[in-house]
This record gives sequence, structure tokens and C-alpha cells, in this order.
Amino acid sequence: MAADSPSYFTIIMLLSRLMAFIGISKNTDIAPPPLSHDPSAIASAAKDFGLIVKTLPQAVLFPSSPQDIASFIQSNYNSSAPFTVAARGESHSVRGQAMAKNGVVVDMTSLNKNPSGIGIRISGDRTYVDLGGEQLWIDVLNVTMRSGVAPVSWTDYLYLTVGGTLSNAGISGQSFRYGPQISNVYELDVITGKGDFVTCSPSKNSDLFYGVLGGLGQFGIITRARIPLEPAPKGVKWIRMLYSDFSAFSRDQELLISKNDRTDKTALNYVEGSLLLNQASLDPFFPPEDHPKIGALITKYGIVYSLEIVKHYDDQTKPTVDKDLQQLLKGLGYIPGFLFEKDVTYIEFLNRVRAEEMFLRSKGLWEVPHPWLNLFIPKSGITAFNNGVFKGIVLQRNITSGPLLVYPMNRKKWDDRMSASIPDEEVFYTVGFLHASGFDNWKTYDDQNQAVLQFCQKAGIEIKQYLGHYSTKEDWIHHFGSKWNTFQQRKLQYDPKFLLSPGQSIFNNN
Ligand SMILES: Cc1cc2nc3c(=O)[nH]c(=O)nc-3n(C[C@H](O)[C@H](O)[C@H](O)COP(=O)(O)OP(=O)(O)OC[C@H]3O[C@@H](n4cnc5c(N)ncnc54)[C@H](O)[C@@H]3O)c2cc1C
Repeated sequence: MAADSPSYFTIIMLLSRLMAFIGISKNTDIAPPPLSHDPSAIASAAKDFGLIVKTLPQAVLFPSSPQDIASFIQSNYNSSAPFTVAARGESHSVRGQAMAKNGVVVDMTSLNKNPSGIGIRISGDRTYVDLGGEQLWIDVLNVTMRSGVAPVSWTDYLYLTVGGTLSNAGISGQSFRYGPQISNVYELDVITGKGDFVTCSPSKNSDLFYGVLGGLGQFGIITRARIPLEPAPKGVKWIRMLYSDFSAFSRDQELLISKNDRTDKTALNYVEGSLLLNQASLDPFFPPEDHPKIGALITKYGIVYSLEIVKHYDDQTKPTVDKDLQQLLKGLGYIPGFLFEKDVTYIEFLNRVRAEEMFLRSKGLWEVPHPWLNLFIPKSGITAFNNGVFKGIVLQRNITSGPLLVYPMNRKKWDDRMSASIPDEEVFYTVGFLHASGFDNWKTYDDQNQAVLQFCQKAGIEIKQYLGHYSTKEDWIHHFGSKWNTFQQRKLQYDPKFLLSPGQSIFNNN
């Protein structure tokens, strides 16, 4: 070697500095942590909230740091017979999406044993929080609220992990105005299928950033997410209005979500909707003394549609919030006398599903099969969907149990570079059949789900499944549509051995 040529070590050092600069680092010198073969760990990694799929892994990794995950994935990737690897958040998937048949499940929640903390930071005009991929949204809410700030986009239920919801989309009644959770991320740390540790954002390694958002765990494991924060409201006005006529209900929903500028202080903060099918489906939001009159309405019409809205207020806006609401609700077509209102704290509102969970747990009705079907439906198909599915299949079969949600969102609040696949129209609805069934009859619900999908196909309604589950690769290609080529290229780049999140059954038959 010539005396003035750079040594091998100098080149390696320069290379690793360059990689660190562009946000990629390797963990070649750290030994991977031991895997657990404990039968109870294996058994719990083999089930999820759905309680329909049971898939045994070979082993479970209980990482105590993101470095543990990176060194395991890297050594696994380099081995001659690598395992498939699934990150497992709270395992609130319903079809085995966080499982790995004969592979290794990475129990993300074990990172909570060494919590990295939820630190709120201000940089220039940005206030944000750095969260571990394993953290629960409920913890994020509780901690940020202590400083009077909070994220703006949520899910209905908060005992879900940051990495789990960002791998799907994270939707709720805020999505029409703020976009889904994946539209509210500044930066991510991701460990790819090769074990590279990559920091990515819209301006740095952006291909991986957009790939991972809604990427169903296919390109890497999210270990950190930087989420924007805004001043949190003091309280919320929470209203439900009842309709017998679907066209009036959907017209009003669409009218309300058309006022969706993030900075418009007069716009609503949340718009959802659901179907009331029997008196048993009435939750405690409706005052008990009004249950008989709502029950009579359901008996008369078969289906009653409940439009749900929220308007935030703080100390300054508290005196005027009722007047502002009256203005917004003027001219809406709900049934006179069927508007119900509550005034609650922001945390109470966002954590509303927890009370329902505790109630169902106390009755032994939480740990039951959940044959869910979640759909995105283009606006042009929603009337046909109401006639064929709600008034047809749902009423005829008369088995629906659990919430049946229906509410619209605005496509422009989603970024097309993200992996999440949504309908092509500017306004689209989400419909969630959140069934809870018995262990012996979940197939009856699954049959109904299939009937709904077949109806859409026959009627030419171009739906997309959300949290979906397809059995063939062709179905996934159809699901991603024009995004499929990019999705596949990203897979080849970031997880070329097809190891990650096999339970989604996109590139693997789990
Ligand atoms: C009661 C209930 C209510 C819900 N409400 C809503 C709602 O309102 N809105 C909504 O959008 N969703 C909702 N969901 C669905 C929920 O967002 C998804 O099931 C989500 O995946 C749950 O997060 P988790 O932490 O349990 O993920 P898991 O089920 O553990 O994992 C889901 C997928 O993401 C992958 N994954 C997990 N962690 C990571 C990570 N850190 N990095 C990369 N990939 C990862 C897994 O491998 C798997 O493929 C609800 C679910 C339940 C059970």
C-alpha cells in the first residue's frame, strides 16, 4: 500500500461518519441479546385482540433498548437461515398481523421497562415530543397534558402503541381536519430489515419515512417518532344528534367536514358517526331516561344514525363556545328533540373507550373473538352502501354486535407518498364493523363480512380495507393499486429477505 493512501481503518471511519451524517448506522460490534423460549411468552405472542388467528413463533425477543433490536435483526439478517421477525406492540390487531410463524416476535412493550421518557421539546416554531415506538398513546396524552399541550390526531382507543398505529394510519374523528396520525409525524427512527438504524423525515431518507407510515411493518421497526404538539383545550363540548334518514345524516357529516382548515378556530375538532340498531347498543352517553324514546325511534326506523361532534374550548373561548356551536349546527337535519350534549375534560373525551373496555372486561366480554371489518368507501358509493349493506345485509342478518362506525374524511389531509392506501375520491368514508362474537360463532360474522365485500364488488364500489387482511398476493396488489410498485421496491430495498411483519401475509404466507 502506498504510504500516502488512506488506511483501511481511515476509510471505515470516514464511511461510518458519512453514514451517521445521512442518518444510517450499523451495530456490527454489539452482540444480539438472548431470545426467550419460555412457553408462556410463546403462547402470548401467538394471540392477539382478534382471538381468531393463533400462530406460534420459535422465540420472543424482549429488548431493553432499540440497539438490542438492531443487533438482533442485523445478526439474524446475516445468518444463513434467518427467522421472520414481527414487532408486537399491544397486539391489538385482529388477524395475526403482529405474529411470526416459527419466527421471532419482538415484544416492543418490554422497552417500557427502561422508559426513555416522554420529553417535550421546543425548536423554533415547532413544539414536539419524541416517543418510543412502544409507548402507549394514553401515556403520551397524560404526560403532554401536564404541560398544557397534546398531539392533534388520535385513535378512538388509546391503549395502542405509537409504532402500531403509525404502521396502519391512526384514524378517528379528528382525521377530517388534522389528517390521520401518519400525517402528523416530523421524524422517525427506524431499524430496517437489514438491521440498519435510520433516522428519517420528509427531508432525510424520505423514501423510508413515507414508506413506513402506513407501511404495515414491512420496511422496518419504528423505535422513535417525533410528533408535533399544539396547545391542548381545557374542555370539550361533545354532542350526538340522531337521524332516521341516511341522506340527511351523510349530507350533514359532509357539510361539517368541509370546514377543515387546521387554523380555523371556528371549525369543529371531531366528526364521527355510528348506527344505533337496538336499545342494547345505546351507550351511557345517552341519558338513561332518554333510552325509551331512542328505543322507540329504533323500533320505528330499524336503523337510527348518530352524528357525533366535538368542539374544543379553552378559558378564552369558553364563554362563546355554545354560540359558536349553535352557528355550526344551524340548519342541520337531525330529528328535533334528539340532540344530546355533554361537557367534559379533554382527557375524559379522548379516553372515552376505556370505560367501555372496563365494563366489557368486568362481564368477560373483552377477551372474545373480534371478527372486525374496517373499510374506506368513496363518497360516490356510500348511498348504495347504506341501501345494500346497512339496510340490506345488516338488518336482514340481524347479528351485528359491537359498534358500527361511519364517518367521512378528506383525502387532501393524507399524503400520497405514504404507504397507506385510500380511495381515489376527495371525500371518503370509513365504516367499521367492530364485532365482538362468541368463540363458536365468529364465522357467522366473518360470513357477513364476506357478504359485505361481495356486495361492494358487485356494486362496483372501489373500497379499500383498513387494518385489512387478504389471503392472496393478488388481493394485496389490488389493495395498493398504483402504489404497489413503490411498495414492492421499498420492500426489496429495506427488507430484501422478506423477514419483517410476516403476519400481514403480503410477501409471506404466515
Ligand atoms: C379496541 C380497539 C380500538 C381501536 N381503535 C382504532 C381507531 O380508532 N383508529 C385506528 O386507526 N385504529 C384503531 N384500532 C386498531 C389499531 O390501530 C391497530 O390494531 C394497531 O395495529 C394497534 O396497535 P398495536 O400497538 O396493538 O399494534 P400490533 O397489533 O402489535 O401491531 C400491528 C402491526 O404493526 C406492526 N408493528 C407494531 N409495532 C411496530 C413498530 N414499532 N414498528 C413497526 N411495525 C410495528 C406489527 O408487526 C403488526 O404488523 C383499534 C384497535 C382496538 C383493539
